[in-house]
Amino acid sequence: MNEYSLSKRLKAVADLVPKNSRLGDIGSDHGYLASYLLLKGQITAAVCGEVVPGPYQQTLEQIEKRKLTAQVTVRLADGLEAIEESDQLTCITICGMGGKLIRDILAAGKEKLTPAMTLILQANVGEHLLREWLVAENYVITQEVILEENNKTYEIIKAEKVPAQVLLTPAELLFGPILLQAKENQVFQAKWLREYHNKERILNQLLAAKDVEPAKVTYFQQELALIKEVLV
Ligand code: SAM
Repeated sequence: MNEYSLSKRLKAVADLVPKNSRLGDIGSDHGYLASYLLLKGQITAAVCGEVVPGPYQQTLEQIEKRKLTAQVTVRLADGLEAIEESDQLTCITICGMGGKLIRDILAAGKEKLTPAMTLILQANVGEHLLREWLVAENYVITQEVILEENNKTYEIIKAEKVPAQVLLTPAELLFGPILLQAKENQVFQAKWLREYHNKERILNQLLAAKDVEPAKVTYFQQELALIKEVLV
């Protein structure tokens, strides 16, 4: 992967970034996403935020190597602390981390987010935590993508701020409101069949335990029922 040829996962993220965005990429690591989008002319400016010095340095070097320093600011900062009002960002990407970490980054820095900012989030696990946070904070999910790369399944969520809360059902929170509409998708079916077997195994272990935990058992039974309903 490089700034001209992204991984399938990051390319799918890039494809969701609106044309002419001013991008904030949190957890930029290598800086390829912002570089790719700028070199393609899809965005006009970017802020890359990194909390770890190594990847921060890597992003800086990448931006200098591609002579993009006039359009990109790289900041060593925790989460949304990397962005400032004067950056006038219109799109935020937070990708390649766990859902809990992305949710915590959003929650910790939510005063930095403006209604003009489109959020594009790609969690490696725990996507439902993001959907729960988005609903609670009056975001509506406008697009979702599911894809497989190197035997891993990824979901990407794009969301916009709206004036009033748009509630999601338990199934929509778990599977994604848009992904659910295309549930025949092969990658979707394969992911949830795997999840079904994993959860079934855990439930059987819980039921076989000496001290059965009723709350946990109910949780897994409910999840299994939801998954069974959507698998075709
Ligand atoms: N976003 C890139 C992608 O999707 O390919 C890089 C993903 S990499 C696995 C996650 C990056 O997020 C790491 O470089 C890590 O240092 C950075 N990171 C983790 N927590 C962060 C935080 N609180 N603020 C900024 N960056 C963070």
